[in-house]
Amino acid sequence: MIIAVDGPVAAGKGTLARRIADRYGLNYLDTGALYRAVALNLLRTGHDPANRQQALQAAQSVDAISLDDPELRAEETGNVASAVAVNQQVRDSLLSYQRTFAKRLPGAVLDGRDIGTVVCPDADIKIYVTASDDVRARRRHAELEAKGDDLPFDDVLADLRARDARDSGRGAAPLKKADDAYLLDTTKLDIEAALEAACQYIDGFLEKN
Ligand code: C5P
Repeated sequence: MIIAVDGPVAAGKGTLARRIADRYGLNYLDTGALYRAVALNLLRTGHDPANRQQALQAAQSVDAISLDDPELRAEETGNVASAVAVNQQVRDSLLSYQRTFAKRLPGAVLDGRDIGTVVCPDADIKIYVTASDDVRARRRHAELEAKGDDLPFDDVLADLRARDARDSGRGAAPLKKADDAYLLDTTKLDIEAALEAACQYIDGFLEKN
């Protein structure tokens, strides 16, 4: 079974996808971490994210070990990841890793921006997680604060909007809800309530199949 979880910045999809994987005993892949790893590699080597050749080389050197680095979660890494993610060659180079992972038994939950539309268009279940800009920015702000990263709320909101606009507006695998995805709006839901809603949907699918 393959479950695709997509959505914009800080919609809660990462936590939700991880919890779904735990509940159904599936493997879990945070595909944003792949793009973040490319970004971190470029930041550390002083290479230019806009340089297509350097970005492609960084994508080709991403490995599972580099996906554990705490610096991956930094705000700057996310912004550079989004800039690098417009590059079709970078996307192509990360595609086979994601598809191979998805096929591993007993199945997988992948979260990202284009899982239901491009990476796994035949996923058994697709969930598109979203929430209002304000609620998402509050969540991201609290997350950064907990790490000691004290960015003003307005900057976090502006960053989030800029990143969403870039992710949705790009030509290569833009962020969008797949036509057959279940829309889960978490604006008024905490993680437990969001998990219950998602599991009800998944259980409904499993009963029918
Ligand atoms: O989900 P996360 O914030 O970690 O992703 C960082 C960036 O990586 C996103 O803003 C997006 O540009 C890119 N990304 C993507 N496709 C994915 C996952 C992430 O383009 N499947």
